[in-house]
Amino acid sequence: MAARQPGALTPGLRQVPVPAPDLETIVSLAKRRGFVFPSAEIYGGFANAYDYGPLGVELKRNIREAWWRSMVQERDDVVGLDAALITNPLVWVGSGHVANFTDPLVDCKRCQRRFRADHLEEGAYGEVPRDANGNPLCPYDGGELTEPRQFNMMFRTQVGPVADEANMAYLPPETAQGIFVNFVNVQQAMRRKLPFGIAQTRVSFRNEITPGRFIFRTLEFEQMEMEYFCMPPRDRDNPTEYLALHRQWVEERLRWYIEVIGIAPERLRLRDHDRDELSHYSAATTDIEYLFPWGWGELEGIAARTDFDLSSHAKLSGQPLTYFDEETGQHVVPWVIEPAAGLTRTLAVVLLDAYSEEPDEKGEKRVVLKFKPRLAPIKVAVLPLSKNDALRPTARRVYDMLRPLWMTQYDETQSIGRRYRRQDEIGTPCCVTIDFQTVGEDGQPGDDCVTIRDRDTQEQVRVPISGLVAALEERVPRC
Ligand code: ATP
Repeated sequence: MAARQPGALTPGLRQVPVPAPDLETIVSLAKRRGFVFPSAEIYGGFANAYDYGPLGVELKRNIREAWWRSMVQERDDVVGLDAALITNPLVWVGSGHVANFTDPLVDCKRCQRRFRADHLEEGAYGEVPRDANGNPLCPYDGGELTEPRQFNMMFRTQVGPVADEANMAYLPPETAQGIFVNFVNVQQAMRRKLPFGIAQTRVSFRNEITPGRFIFRTLEFEQMEMEYFCMPPRDRDNPTEYLALHRQWVEERLRWYIEVIGIAPERLRLRDHDRDELSHYSAATTDIEYLFPWGWGELEGIAARTDFDLSSHAKLSGQPLTYFDEETGQHVVPWVIEPAAGLTRTLAVVLLDAYSEEPDEKGEKRVVLKFKPRLAPIKVAVLPLSKNDALRPTARRVYDMLRPLWMTQYDETQSIGRRYRRQDEIGTPCCVTIDFQTVGEDGQPGDDCVTIRDRDTQEQVRVPISGLVAALEERVPRC
């Protein structure tokens, strides 16, 4: 939100810049192969809005499930929540969004285009022209810019037929507040002891006016957020244990991107927010950044939000949002660590990072999306060697057998080489080929074996159909 100063880089990761492929390559592949389409294209599109196609929807689901598995299912201290999107507008007063979720807006006096002053400084428009005093000028025509005015980024809507202030509501710009206002409900219903977390994934909305660079910045986007509630520190001014817990979450989230999502560590770095960049209530914030084709950009922010949110909501609502500590017999307001990730921004990173060009079996260029198998939208492709009536029944039988277990695609058009390349380009980890040896030929019986071809090594192994599920299970998780 706020203007960004370059902060301290946490040492430890290799800071070798290895550029991702250029954005155009990914945007065009994403559209051609059904991952992401510009929204309402037949009407000329809509700035900062995208639609997710059949493969994009699967990829998004798989990233969300990987997050939920790591953050909720595999942990014993985190539970889930799905709070209403449209709710009492006082939530956004209590959270401070009505007063403070603003960004500085400037207009070009010549062409009247609008910009976020912080985005001009951060390079969202590349190198901008400047006046003699070093102030930015319009990136389109070099015109002078107005003084910044604060602009609230929340979308407003109305509930009911009358459009007056009393019926006004907001579309949520983040998921966290639904968690804070439910803290007591969840803690009591689930009989949780501190520390514990509440996780939520869902859509958020922000009135973004900066050109979004594909799905990096959009009007609506999905977030994956968790609030981790812990005991308040003994010394508010020197919260050593609390800051250590924050560090643990930073490490854990970084590990997730590398080990679970498979992002190259060379393209990830940690950036601690400088003191003047922190919100007044925050004890520390660290961003996990990715090396996008245009430079480093935020992928996730891990914020140590102290007791700010619970205290603010308690003050405005008049309801105590506290925890009863049995040991001391006192009611305390928990402190919070918040890892806040963008699901759709992660999807852009997964596409960029998985992209690779390399030689195929014949030495020609093949494009491969090297997704971790668990993220691949299609796990298995069933490919009869050719479009032939003798092969089809067995191929369809194999397809029917695999479909309930994995997202599976059937394809019998064009040469087998082209079909392998098509599957490589959408990142399918395994192709299963049915040939004439499988079904038998010239009166000879078949061996009922099929070939599994590996996306990354292009190696092929022959396995009996009866052992196919077990052989695939070694290569692709069943999810
Ligand atoms: P930015 O500085 O890029 O606008 P932010 O610091 O305002 O992001 P947060 O409020 O910390 O973002 O939101 C958490 C995460 O949500 C971000 O790290 C990002 O992955 C995602 N996110 C935020 N705004 C958008 C958007 N307009 N489009 C897509 N993803 C977004």
